[in-house]
Amino acid sequence: MIVSDIDCARCDAVCCRLTVVLQSDDDVPARFVDVTEAGLQVMARDEEGWCVAIDPARMCCSIYDTRPEICRRFEMAGPYCRSVRDDYEDRGRRGIPLAMY
Ligand code: SF4
Ligand code: SF4
Repeated sequence: MIVSDIDCARCDAVCCRLTVVLQSDDDVPARFVDVTEAGLQVMARDEEGWCVAIDPARMCCSIYDTRPEICRRFEMAGPYCRSVRDDYEDRGRRGIPLAMY
């Protein structure tokens, strides 16, 4: 069995600081939705960049069962996961102003 060196349980939920653009089939509570200047519906983020749907006490998604399609497609230990984690480390574990489309 191959054991990955990457695990969400040992991560700062880096991917939950990315911009999540909502798709037409997504159904998330309106209080979690923001609209960009370009008119895109996105998951709202707090002043530190965290998606507002994250449960800060448990550091997990509070709407996991109805999370957006983009979040569902995000693969733990996949290329994009590794890329954002590396970028996060390079920035001294601070915010990562990346977009996810
Ligand atoms: S998918 Fe990757 S970046 Fe997101 S919480 Fe899991 S390990 Fe961290
Ligand atoms: S909706 Fe959930 S999985 Fe998606 S970025 Fe927000 S907290 Fe993370």
